[in-house]
Amino acid sequence: MHNHPPHEVAIVGAGPAGLAAAMQLRRYGLNPLVFEGSRVGGLLWNANLVENYPGFPSGLPGPALVRLFKRQADRLGVHITADLVTNILWEDGLFRLQASQGTFSARHLVLAMGTRPLPFTTLQIPPVLHDRVLYEVHSILDLSGKSIAIVGAGDAAFDYALNLSRKNQVTILNRGGRIKCLPLLEERVALSPNIRYYSNTALVGIGSASAGELQLDCLSPTGSLSMSADYLVGALGREPRLDCLPAVFRQKSRLLVQRKLLYFVGDIKNGMFRQTSIAVGDGLQAAMGIHHRLSAS
Ligand SMILES: Cc1cc2nc3c(=O)[nH]c(=O)nc-3n(C[C@H](O)[C@H](O)[C@H](O)COP(=O)(O)OP(=O)(O)OC[C@H]3O[C@@H](n4cnc5c(N)ncnc54)[C@H](O)[C@@H]3O)c2cc1C
Repeated sequence: MHNHPPHEVAIVGAGPAGLAAAMQLRRYGLNPLVFEGSRVGGLLWNANLVENYPGFPSGLPGPALVRLFKRQADRLGVHITADLVTNILWEDGLFRLQASQGTFSARHLVLAMGTRPLPFTTLQIPPVLHDRVLYEVHSILDLSGKSIAIVGAGDAAFDYALNLSRKNQVTILNRGGRIKCLPLLEERVALSPNIRYYSNTALVGIGSASAGELQLDCLSPTGSLSMSADYLVGALGREPRLDCLPAVFRQKSRLLVQRKLLYFVGDIKNGMFRQTSIAVGDGLQAAMGIHHRLSAS
C-alpha cells in the first residue's frame, strides 16, 4: 500500500453519470482518476431496451449503449481504474480515497456510485441457494431454457421479465394488485407467451426443490401455491449506494457540496428520477462546475 500524489479530480463509479463527468473533464484537458468496482457501464447492463435516450430512434439494448459509452470514453482518453473504493475521508483540504491499490487523494470528488438493490428481508434463503437468488439480471442474460421467477411490480420487474423471456420461461409475482410499471411494458408483458403474471401473490418461503432448483411457496387469495424455479430475481426497489462514505464524511458532505468541491451525480441522488439521460446530465454539470471553479481560481 502506498500513497499517491493528489489528483485534481477523482470520480467514484463508471456508470453513465461517472463516465459523462469523466468525458467532459477530458475535454477540458483534465485527467480524472476514475474508479469502477464492478463493471464499467453500471446498472445499464440490465436494461432491456432503452427507448428514451435521445439519438437512437429505434431504442437500443442497455449493453449496446454501454459499449458506445465505452468507445467514446476510450476515444477521449478516459482511464478507468478497476478498483472498489472502500472508504472516503476529508482531511487537510483533500479527499482521501481508500482502495485495494492504495490511498489516493483529490481536490475535487464526483460521487457516482448509483444505487443498490433492496434485498428480501422477510425470507430465510438457505445458503446453498444464495447464488440462485439475484437482484440484477446481467449475469444470467445468456441463459436459455430456464424458469425464472421475478418478484416486483415496477419498471425493473417488467423490464427484467421481457429481457429474460426471450429464451426462458418467466413468472412475475406481485404481492399487490396494482402494476406500477410503464403501460407499454405492461402491454408487452401481456403479449409475451413466455411470461406468466400473478397478482396478489406473496412469496412467503424459499426452499430446495429437486436438481438444485428453488421451491417458491406463495400465498394468494385462492390459497397457497408452490412452484419451482431455476432462479429468483428480486426487483423490490433500490436505495442510494453510500457504503464507502463513513458517517463523519456524510456529516461534512453538505458543506463540501456548497463549496463546489464535492458532487453527487446520477442515481445516487436522483430518487425516483433514475434515468440515464438525467445521470449523464448530472455528470456533465459536475464536470462543468469543476472546470468553472478551476478557471476562476
Ligand atoms: C432493468 C432496468 C432498465 C432500465 N431502463 C432504462 C431506460 O430504458 N432508460 C433510462 O434512461 N434508464 C434506464 N435504467 C436506469 C439506468 O440504468 C440508470 O439510471 C443509470 O445506469 C444510472 O447511472 P449512474 O451512473 O448514476 O449509476 P449506475 O449505473 O448504478 O453506476 C454506478 C457505478 O458505480 C460503481 N460503484 C459503486 N460503488 C463503488 C465504489 N465504492 N467504488 C467503485 N465503484 C463503485 C458501480 O459498480 C456502478 O458501475 C434502467 C435500469 C434498470 C435496472
